[in-house]
Amino acid sequence: MSHGVLLLEDDRVLRTSLREALAIEGYRVHTAASLADARAQLRSIRPEEPIDLVLLDLGLPDGDGQTLLDELRKQGHVAVLVISAREAEGQKIRVLDGGADDYLVKPFGIGELLARMRAALRHRGHATEPPVLAYQHGALNIDLKTRRVRHHGLEVHLTPTEFALLARLVRQAGQVVTHRHLLADVWGAEHVDQTHYLRLYMGQLRAKLEDDSAEPRHLLTETGVGYRMAEPDTDT
Ligand code: CA
Repeated sequence: MSHGVLLLEDDRVLRTSLREALAIEGYRVHTAASLADARAQLRSIRPEEPIDLVLLDLGLPDGDGQTLLDELRKQGHVAVLVISAREAEGQKIRVLDGGADDYLVKPFGIGELLARMRAALRHRGHATEPPVLAYQHGALNIDLKTRRVRHHGLEVHLTPTEFALLARLVRQAGQVVTHRHLLADVWGAEHVDQTHYLRLYMGQLRAKLEDDSAEPRHLLTETGVGYRMAEPDTDT
């Protein structure tokens, strides 16, 4: 079944090119150029053709896209991917902690957008695939069920905390996970400000799982925001 996408973007040229690219990929694409327009579109959606993902611009003629994010989060499980020229870390953290699935800074490549959309849809359970239990990317192989991690075919021993952190990132592979979410989920809500835990443990994971921990390929840094597990290789 094709997924429904609402593309909210006031830049006409970008809106048109994205609509075409997404339609080619098989998405059912609705477009809107303002918040009012988007709300009207969302109201008129037919239940048999739902919107599964919203591509949300922030700077819009009638307000800030963040207000629509708040409304969408109260309503349900639609995936929200923010596309914005605003690249301040504080802005990214606000929308991610506010419930956006991911954040892409303009200008971006269509390939990256599509990968992030797939990850967001998978995370929201819209895809037909089973939940993520295995991850493969290049020389890195992770089986969450058996808790086995292999790098270049060799088994890697991880401490329980290292494994918990890795598993949290793998379950949302392809998407950025904020420092706050990682700290809350791995160490507990009372530790959300201890970002030095993350630096320490990510360093340990990279030393074990990357060929060159100074230039990680699997465990990626989103500076000032969080971390992202690289999008897994697709099965061939
Ligand atoms: Ca805009």
